[in-house]
Amino acid sequence: MYKSHTCGELTAKHAEQEVTLAGWVHRRRDHGGVTFIDLRDRFGVVQMVTNADLYPEAHKDMEPVRSEWVIQVKGRVHKRPVGMVNPEISTGEIEVEIQEVKILNPAKTPPIYINKEEEIDEQVRLRYRYLDLRKERMRRNLELRHQVVKFIRDYLDQHGFLEVETPILFKTTPEGARDYLVPSRLHPGEFYALPQSPQQLKQLLMVAGVERYFQIARCFRDEDQRGDRQPEFTQLDLEMSFVEREDVMNVTEDLFTKLVAEIVPEMKLLQSPWPRFTYEEVMARFGKDNPDIRFGMELVDFTDLAAQSGFRVFESVAESGGHVRGIKAQGLGDYSRKQIEELTEFVSQYGAKGLAYVALTSDGEQRSSFAKYLSEGTLKEIIMRFEAEPGDLLLFVAASPEVTFESLGRLRELLGERLGLRKPDVLGFCWVIDFPFVMYNAEEESWDPSHHLFTSPMPEDIVFLDTNPGEARGQQYDMVLNGYEVGGGSIRIHDRQLQAQVFELIGLEKEVAQERFGHMLEAFEYGTPPHGGIAPGIDRICMILAGEPNIREVIAFPKNQNARDVMASAPSPVEQQQLKELHIDVRA
Ligand code: ASP
Repeated sequence: MYKSHTCGELTAKHAEQEVTLAGWVHRRRDHGGVTFIDLRDRFGVVQMVTNADLYPEAHKDMEPVRSEWVIQVKGRVHKRPVGMVNPEISTGEIEVEIQEVKILNPAKTPPIYINKEEEIDEQVRLRYRYLDLRKERMRRNLELRHQVVKFIRDYLDQHGFLEVETPILFKTTPEGARDYLVPSRLHPGEFYALPQSPQQLKQLLMVAGVERYFQIARCFRDEDQRGDRQPEFTQLDLEMSFVEREDVMNVTEDLFTKLVAEIVPEMKLLQSPWPRFTYEEVMARFGKDNPDIRFGMELVDFTDLAAQSGFRVFESVAESGGHVRGIKAQGLGDYSRKQIEELTEFVSQYGAKGLAYVALTSDGEQRSSFAKYLSEGTLKEIIMRFEAEPGDLLLFVAASPEVTFESLGRLRELLGERLGLRKPDVLGFCWVIDFPFVMYNAEEESWDPSHHLFTSPMPEDIVFLDTNPGEARGQQYDMVLNGYEVGGGSIRIHDRQLQAQVFELIGLEKEVAQERFGHMLEAFEYGTPPHGGIAPGIDRICMILAGEPNIREVIAFPKNQNARDVMASAPSPVEQQQLKELHIDVRA
């Protein structure tokens, strides 16, 4: 072994011991005859010191050594003199007097400072990811992720789940994205698809009698890189037989409640048990189906008042079946016209043509973009409906239901952020249930599954499938945390007949269904237990627990927002010969 101890473990109880350490030079400071070197390894940092009088050779050997060189040191641990103790680090009570130095590997000056936090272009961080990962913040994130996954494995093991690996080279497994395809050399013109999730395979494991399955599964989805998506990401994929939706939700909730208590005890659950909302309720109250429930500022519907307000814009929206809703931002009543204009621009991204407002200033005045058009008494009624007081800013959107919900839902979270209501150490988990089973796709004039093809409708709503599919609810549940959907699942269809009916409803032709999912339909004929599952996203959950702004911070080697690995430069061209073997002709 190159080391007798790790850099982080030395304390006063090691005083006067001889130790051998190895690691990276974190920092060096020269003071004439003495040089201080902070040595770092994964477990911490320790201060070491050379002394030209006592160990001249070691002092000399240390001369060329710079930051990030890899060295091995023999020395003796001493307690630091009183007054020199550094309570900030675990090894702050001691230092190591260097007796011998061996340079294991020098280093070029790194393009990233490892020993201090600084604003740095993310592309540079990703290009030199192996250096970026040396930093404290990233090391902590890797450790947290390891602990999360370990806790999950241990918990599920104790609850009778089997971890089973499923293939990466498989067949199309749709979850609403494009597939990544892999050409087959042995079967010209044929392709494997990388799984968008192990959905079919976990269901087949239920047919196989596994009963309780899980996998820390990699999923591949070729979609545009909006926000914090990655072409490949990791889910805790889970499936159970002989269960109803309550059972899956209960196991998941218990797992994550205990995980939080154990792994991030400094964070608090907003509510336990987690609140449950129907889809309709979350939309009406928060404007989105993955709401941040750590704060109020809920949407208020006043379409009824707006319909006879005298204000033409409101009235015509209400007449044409649109919604008029608003939110009350407490404490923003003194916002300037310019600040409100900026918010108007913000909601315009989501299709809102305007943002009407009433500002109740802190000194009792009222400013409004539309009050002059209102019929008598209406402004007062609106203010009453919102229970608004001086200092409040009321913001309204009048538009189609989709645009109203989306723009106000987003605006609510933006303002929640500005007002400091999204407390980073609070975890607002909730469940959303009773989603519509299918959504109408006006462009294609067809019904799309709102979850995926294998989700079962609510048994009492099966009757609607033929007559009025939009009325049917699915047996689906979403796990939501602090404004993110962090997991979704459902009770599945386990009946061949019903599965075929759903394929037909969503316009999947019989032959296509047979070609793509024939193996599922066939399996369902051999005794399939009722089953259901869920797939919480590991990246997003770790991101939130780590307090990071995006999932790239908790993935060791993520792609950039252009789906590129800028470190290794992937994707990249390949040899002509390789293409030939794969029977592929590339046209520019
Ligand atoms: N396969 C689903 C997904 O990836 C999760 C599930 O239904 O279990 O979202």
